[in-house]
Parts: sequence; structure tokens; C-alpha cells
Amino acid sequence: MSKRKLTRKQKWRIEKVQQERISRAQKREQLIEQELQDDNLGSEQQGLIIAHYGATLDIEPLGQPGSVRRCHLRSNLPPLVTGDRVVWRQSQKDETGVVVALEDRLSLLTRPDNHGRIKPVAANINYIVLVIAPVPMPHTNLIDRYLVAAETVGIEPVLLLNKIDLLDEEGMELLDDLLSVYEDIGYQVLRASTRSEDGLAPLKALLDEHVSVFVGQSGVGKSSLVNSLLPGVDTRVGDLSESTGKGMHTTTAAKLFHFPAGGMLIDSPGIREFGLWHIDAQSVLEGFREFRPYLGYCRFRDCKHEKEPGCALKQALEEGEILEERMFSYKQILDSLDA
Ligand code: GDP
Ligand code: ZN
Repeated sequence: MSKRKLTRKQKWRIEKVQQERISRAQKREQLIEQELQDDNLGSEQQGLIIAHYGATLDIEPLGQPGSVRRCHLRSNLPPLVTGDRVVWRQSQKDETGVVVALEDRLSLLTRPDNHGRIKPVAANINYIVLVIAPVPMPHTNLIDRYLVAAETVGIEPVLLLNKIDLLDEEGMELLDDLLSVYEDIGYQVLRASTRSEDGLAPLKALLDEHVSVFVGQSGVGKSSLVNSLLPGVDTRVGDLSESTGKGMHTTTAAKLFHFPAGGMLIDSPGIREFGLWHIDAQSVLEGFREFRPYLGYCRFRDCKHEKEPGCALKQALEEGEILEERMFSYKQILDSLDA
């Protein structure tokens, strides 16, 4: 009996919190609409979202890096993310503003949430820089997993081998062999060291005039790279607490930074874990870039590309158009999905 009473009380409390949240949101919306009506806002201008905190976001007026405006957004907008280009209007009274429109996106980095729904994470990214290193030694399979994830969101991946200072001639040859597989497929590969600073110039040239994210397994040197490319900038992305019906819940915001040498970085702990998010079997198949010309040409429509006669992938493999390593890796990733 006491259990039931407690449940009713909990239910009441949850409803109350939700009600409060809705009324807060409505109030906010009314204020925004009022400001728009009162014409308290300046003319429309272009901006770039550099951070996003639930109900508000930080905008940089286009072409004014370093200048930040805290903005509210109109309720008719789709979910906005860091990297989005928007149209906004500045308040006449203070440094705040209102976002009124979203401009077309060049690309969208997404991730599935716990309920399998696709959530936008960051927009207009040109390169997913996949950082690897001699230590921790990259497993081909893991590299392919990251590449599949990048192909799935349709953003160009670039491989960056960091810590080349640790490699002797033999070690370099070994990694060159591994990387040549990817160069042959058409991926761009860079080699660098944050320690010796070798290879940083070509990396800076790549990043210039583009928006990039760094991804890769822990320990490969992502933080070191960010620190050497953004000297003196505190890139630790703050954990933001947002109150929800269940109490305090921490969300982690993606932030945009300008490299002094040109180009931009979008970073967050979540983004660095990109590639390890859930993926479905069809995306894995299509995520192997060099398989694509053969997809749809197998004799059987439901070909599993195993032992079926007339398999176009198997034929491409036999003719050397597809490498054994990659086919093996494809099967491994597929098997790991079932597990
Ligand atoms: P993250 O987990 O990917 O962010 O990796 P960190 O930036 O924290 O680096 C992991 C370790 O690798 C640290 O001990 C770094 O000092 C080291 N490290 C980073 N870059 C280099 C490099 O170019 N050469 C060497 N030898 N060590 C590096
Ligand atoms: Zn087949």
C-alpha cells in the first residue's frame, strides 16, 4: 500500500516538474515573440553557432571570430547544433540575440541516442580526422570501423598517423604497409608527431579553410594535437548541467574553435568517441567505399557475399579489385554487430 502511495506521489512530482518545464519554455517563447514584435531587434545577419546549451546558444557574427553573442532561438526552428550557420538578430538592449533561421547544411554529424533515434551532433564538418598511432597499435578492424562510420554520415575521413617520432625504419615500413591499403582505396593519409612537430605543416594546410573533428581511440594523441594546434586555448569542454524531470543531468556541449593558422575544429568528448556508436549491417557494407561499385550486381538479391555463386564482391576479390584484408575486416565488423 505504501508503495502505491509513493508511486502516486512520484507521478505527481514528475508531472509538476514537466508542467513547470513547459511553462518556462512557453514564457521564453512569448518573450522571444514579444521582442520580435516590438522590433527590439536589429536587422538580420549571418552567424555561426560555436556552442549549444539547451535553450540558448553562442553565436559568432559571421567573419568576427572571438566575438560571442548568447542567443535564444525561435520555437519553429529544427534542432540546431554547433557548426550550424544561421540567420540571427541582435537585441537593441543588450548583447543577446534571437536566431530566426537555419541555413542549409553542407554535412551533419549524427549519432543514435539510447532509443535508436538519430540525433544531430555537429554541422558543416568537412573532415573527420581519424588519429592513429604506433601506440596504442591500431587494429585494422578498428580503423575500418571508424571509416565506415565516417562514410555513413557522408563526411570525408582523413587518416593521421601521429607519434612518428616513436618509429624506427622497420616500424615505419610496417605502418606504411598498413596505410598503403587506405591510400590505394583513395583516402588521404598524413604522418605527424606532436612531440617532434614533424608533419604538422601539412596537417595545418589540410585543416585550413575547413571544419574538422579529431576522432580515434584513447591515447593516440588527440588532446596533444589539439593543444599544439590551439596553443593557449582551454579546450576542455565544460559539462553543462541541465535540470530535467529526473533531477540534474549532465550534457556535454560540442564547441567550435578557430585554428590560428586557419580552419576550425569542433570538439567534445562525445565527438571523440565517434565511430564506436551503433551502426547497422547495410551501413557497414556501404561503408566500405571500394565495395560500392559491386553492390547490387550479385546473382542473388539477398546474397550474403559468403559462398553464393555469382557473388560480385567475391569476384572483385578474386580479381584483386578488393583487398583480402578489407573483406576480412568487413566480415569481422558484421559479426561484431550480431554479438
Ligand atoms: P588522447 O587520449 O587521444 O587525447 O591522447 P593524448 O593527447 O592524451 O596522448 C596520449 C599520450 O601520448 C600522452 O602521454 C602524450 O604525451 C603522448 N603523445 C601525444 N603525441 C605524441 C607524439 O607525437 N609522440 C609521442 N612520443 N608521444 C605523444
Ligand atoms: Zn554477393
